[in-house]
Amino acid sequence: MTRPMIPIETRMTTIDMTTGEETPGTTTMYMMPAARGKCEMCGSEHEPELPHNAQSLFYAVRFNQLYGRAPTWLDAMEHCTPEMRDLWIEALIDKGVNVHAGEVNPS
Ligand SMILES: [Zn+2]
Repeated sequence: MTRPMIPIETRMTTIDMTTGEETPGTTTMYMMPAARGKCEMCGSEHEPELPHNAQSLFYAVRFNQLYGRAPTWLDAMEHCTPEMRDLWIEALIDKGVNVHAGEVNPS
């Protein structure tokens, strides 16, 4: 069974190359669904109880499409239990990631 492409509505500005006039508008781009067996949200392989891969470009694009901003690790672990979130936050901080500032990589 073919899985549908994921539509991503985005802003687009058309520029008249003769006059230079800019016309704002919108367009739709499409992204492939996650590979079979991978998480539909982040495109990575992980157990459902674990956070999404906040460093995944797939996740960044999907999340931005849904919420209009870049994801954080806190977003990626929103569906996790409080205990799981605490473990991940502690581990990420140990790795140098300022989780509460919204970083997804060590600073
Ligand atoms: Zn995921």
